[in-house]
Amino acid sequence: AKARGRGTLCLFDPAMKAELEERRAIADDLAVALLADEIEIALQPKTSFKDGRHTGFEALVRWQRGGEPVPPPLMIAVAEENGLIVALGYRIFDLALATIRNLVDAGLAPGSVAVNVAAMQLRQDDFVTRVLGLLDKHGLPPATLEIEVTEHVLLDGGDDCIAHTLAALRAHGIRVSLDDFGTGYASLTHLKRFPVDCLKVDRSFVRDIAREPDNAILTRTIITLAHSLGMEAVAEGVESVAQYQFLEEQGCDYAQGYLIARPLPRREVAAYLRGFTAP
Ligand code: C2E
Ligand code: CA
Ligand code: CA
Ligand code: CA
Repeated sequence: AKARGRGTLCLFDPAMKAELEERRAIADDLAVALLADEIEIALQPKTSFKDGRHTGFEALVRWQRGGEPVPPPLMIAVAEENGLIVALGYRIFDLALATIRNLVDAGLAPGSVAVNVAAMQLRQDDFVTRVLGLLDKHGLPPATLEIEVTEHVLLDGGDDCIAHTLAALRAHGIRVSLDDFGTGYASLTHLKRFPVDCLKVDRSFVRDIAREPDNAILTRTIITLAHSLGMEAVAEGVESVAQYQFLEEQGCDYAQGYLIARPLPRREVAAYLRGFTAP
């Protein structure tokens, strides 16, 4: 017993125990919420720097648990732990595509919708088939859909399975974006092994563009890297006009952030598109 470090005793730590129990309770409630159709999405608009026009949305999961919103990263982590992420993920695809269908039917031009996916989803044998099935269900072409993966997801793949799935999605005309680019361990080798259509410059770089020369340089480098490899660049977390202008000067392709719009509940999206004005 003497040889045991503190770490081995951590399960008996009351705070740790409480956290594990809380996560288990969240997992149980999430399973119920999924069956009860209580999972929602918010849609955050994306605009083009070229002409300031709306180009599409990113779907972000939302869940009110007993009147309290659950932070998406916590919810996703719990869902990954117990495998619920697969069912949850298809629900999010379905909601996102249903929303786009409604907007198209209302005579609006919603553009594309980007959906975030976890590694476990991409490892399902029938992932591509099921996603194509959902597009078909809603009568939408594959170009409507974009898939966002983090560098973490790529490294979680282990084998070539994830690379194959991403290649299959792209071969069907579904765009793939590398999310939070620059925060993980992605190297140029990964970009070669996992060809994508777009790099999303992480919010942490965009945030300090004006104050931190290093972040400005990194942001510019990511945009240049994207373009020299034939990809597009999206900046996330654009909150100020100064950030917007800097990114525009650097030739960034798309902007997303509170300056343009916060993630919107589904019922507000049509009004957003009707009243859309460039920033
Ligand atoms: P992400 O994919 O990087 O999404 C962007 C996050 O930044 C969102 O937080 C969004 O609400 C927030 N955001 C957008 N613009 C701004 C801005 O201008 N300023 C600031 N401060 N924040 C901004 P959210 O919705 O809480 O999601 C957090 C993370 O949870 C996401 O990061 C993503 O990694 C994960 N996530 C969210 N929805 C899903 C989902 O449906 N599936 C999966 N697998 N992950 C999801
Ligand atoms: Ca994302
Ligand atoms: Ca991101
Ligand atoms: Ca991020």
